[in-house]
Amino acid sequence: MRMRVLVIWAAAALGLISSACDSSLGPPRRQPLPVPDGVAALRTPGPRSPRLASYRIDARYDAAAHRVDATQVLTWTNGGHSAVDTLPFHLYLNAFKNEATLFMTSSGGEHRGQRADDRSWGWIEIPSIRVGALEVRPKAIYLGGDETVLEVPLPAPVAAGASVEITMTFTAQLPRLFARTGYHGAFAMVAQWFPKVGVRVGTPGFETWHCPPFHVNTEFFADFGVYDVNLTVPATHVVAATGVLTAAKDNDDGTRVLSYHAEDVHDFAWMIDPYMEVLTGTAKVGDGTVIVRVVHRARQRGFARRHLAAAIGTIENFSELFVPYPWSIMTVVDPPPEAEGAAGMEYPTLVTTAGDHVFMRDGVRVPEYVTIHEVGHNWFQGLLASNEFEEAWLDEGVNEWADALVMTRMYGERASALSWMGWTGDAYHLRRALDERFDRVPSPIATAAYAFIDTDGYAAATYHKTSAALRTLEHVVGRDRFAAAMKTYAETWAFRHPTGADLLASLELSLGEDLRWFWTPAFYQPGGVDFAVRSVECVEAHEPRGVFGDGSSRKVVTGGDGKVGGWTCEVVVVNHGSVPVPVDVELRFADGSHQRDRWDARDGSRWHRFTMARSSPLVEVAIDPDGDVLLSGNLLDDHIRLTPDNRASWRASARIVFWTQGLMQAVGP
Ligand SMILES: [Zn+2]
Repeated sequence: MRMRVLVIWAAAALGLISSACDSSLGPPRRQPLPVPDGVAALRTPGPRSPRLASYRIDARYDAAAHRVDATQVLTWTNGGHSAVDTLPFHLYLNAFKNEATLFMTSSGGEHRGQRADDRSWGWIEIPSIRVGALEVRPKAIYLGGDETVLEVPLPAPVAAGASVEITMTFTAQLPRLFARTGYHGAFAMVAQWFPKVGVRVGTPGFETWHCPPFHVNTEFFADFGVYDVNLTVPATHVVAATGVLTAAKDNDDGTRVLSYHAEDVHDFAWMIDPYMEVLTGTAKVGDGTVIVRVVHRARQRGFARRHLAAAIGTIENFSELFVPYPWSIMTVVDPPPEAEGAAGMEYPTLVTTAGDHVFMRDGVRVPEYVTIHEVGHNWFQGLLASNEFEEAWLDEGVNEWADALVMTRMYGERASALSWMGWTGDAYHLRRALDERFDRVPSPIATAAYAFIDTDGYAAATYHKTSAALRTLEHVVGRDRFAAAMKTYAETWAFRHPTGADLLASLELSLGEDLRWFWTPAFYQPGGVDFAVRSVECVEAHEPRGVFGDGSSRKVVTGGDGKVGGWTCEVVVVNHGSVPVPVDVELRFADGSHQRDRWDARDGSRWHRFTMARSSPLVEVAIDPDGDVLLSGNLLDDHIRLTPDNRASWRASARIVFWTQGLMQAVGP
C-alpha cells in the first residue's frame, strides 16, 4: 500500500514534471495596465522593525537579454554601538558567473536536481558606487574567494545610530534558471538580483559584519527595511513582486513602469512572464483580511486553486498560532513546470510553489505542502528573521514543524498529507518513513549550513531532525503548553533576528522549566533516539524453592509446590541513541489485558527496568506505541511479539518476530 505512496512522493522529489514550451502559447500580447492595489503595505501602520536597510531601486528589464539595468539607493543605518567604515554587499548573481565560484564548486552545478547551463551564466556588474558625490567603486574589493561579496570602503565612518546613503548603478544578467533565480523561456524569477548589504551581528559595541560568500547550502540573511522599487518592463508581460503595487504607467516605447512599495521586509523579489493569469482570494486574519493571489499559467488553473486554498489556510492558521500576518498581500507564483529551478522558494510576501504534476491528484498533498511551507516561511524567516547561514534550522526546521501542525489543522490528524483512493497518511509519519535517517548525520542540528557533510546531511538535520525534535518536545511538555510557548516566542522576536539560544531561553521562560536535558543533546549533538527492547522475562509466581530451616523443622520446597498463582514479569528497555526522551511502553498479556507504563528519562537514564505482577504472561512489548517520539530512528527493535516458545524468557539476541511502524511495515511480507 505505502509503496504506491512512495512512488508518488519519489516522483515529486525527482521532478518528473510534465512540460510544455512557450512556443505553443503564441507571441506575447499586450497586457492591460494593472490597477494599483490601493492598500497599504502593512495592515496596521508601522514601523514594525528598526528599518536599518532601505532601498530605492529603478530597474529596467530587457526581456530578450534577460538582463536588468538599475540604479539603487541604499539608506543604511548603523543600529549597533560601534562605528562602521566599510559596507559589504552580497552580489549573489556572481555565484552563477563561472564554474569556479563557491556556489558552483559546493553544488557541483546542481541544485535540487536542476543543472546549470554552461551557455548562459549569470552575473552582476557594478560600474559606479557613490557615497554623496564621491565615487568609491575603484576602492571596492571582493572578499572571500569569489565575487559574491564586495566590500565598499566609506569616506568617513558611520557613527552608532547614524545613517549613510550609497548610490549604485548595476547590471544584473540573469542565468538560465536552475537555482532559484534566472529565466526559462519567457519566464523569469528575479531573485537575489541587487547588491544587498550584510548584517552587523555580535555583542553591542563589538559588532562585526556578517556577509559570507554564497554557498549552495546557505540561504539569506538581511536587515529589515522599506523598499521602493520601480520596474520598467515590456507591456506584454505580467509582473508579480514583493509588496504592493502603488502606481502603473505606460510609456510610449511599449514598456510600462510598475511601482512597488514594501515595509518591514528584508528582501525584494519579482517574477515576470507574458503568459500568466491571476487567481485571487482572501484570508481572514483577526478582524481584517489579506489579499492572496496565485499567479499561474492557464494549464495550471487546477493547481492554482489548490495553491490558493493552501495559502489562505496557511495565513489564517499561522496568524492564529504565532503572530498575525502583518502585510496586506501574499503573492504565490506557480512557475511553469519546466522552470522548476524557481520552484519552492520564499521571499517576503511572495513565494513560489512546486509539485504541479500529473500524479498529484486531489488529496495527494505535495503541492499543498510546498505552498504551506513557503508561505510559512513568511513567519519563520520573514518575520523571525534568523541567520540562515549559521542557523538554518531556525527557519527551515521550525517551519517544517509548524507546517505539519498546520496541515493537521487543515486536513485532519490522520490524513494531513494524503487522502486519496482510500489511502491516508499524516505528514509526520510519512516524513519519518521516507526521509534519510537523520541520526546518521555526523553533525548536530546546530551546524552552520555550509559546514554540513553534504546537502543531504544538511537537509536531514536542518529540516527533518529539527521538526522531529520539536514534535518530540511538544509531546513531552504537552501540546497546548508548547503551542503557547511557541506563540510567545513568535510575538517576542517578530521583526528581529532570533538565534537558537533565544528560542531556547524563550521556551524555558514560557514553560517554566529547564529544557537543557533534551535541548543540548537533541540540537547541539549528533545522533538521535534509538529505542530497543533488550529483554523480557516472565516466571510463574511461587514461593521461593529450596531447603528452608534446620533439623526436624527442615522443609524442602520444589517446583511443584508453592505456586501462588499469576506471573512476575520483567522488561528491560534501552535507548542506544544520544538523546534521552520520556516514552510510553505498552505491555500486552496472554489473557488480552494490557497496561501502559512510562519511562521518564529526563534524568538522563539510558535504560529502564519495568517489573510487574500479572495473572498471565507477556505476549507483546511496544515502546512508543503511538509514535510520539519522532526523533527515534531505528524502529526495528522497538516492538516485539513473544511466541509460546520464548514467552518465558526473551533477549534481544534471540530470534524474534518483529515489525515496525515505519517503512518496513509497508514493504515487509
Ligand atoms: Zn524552506
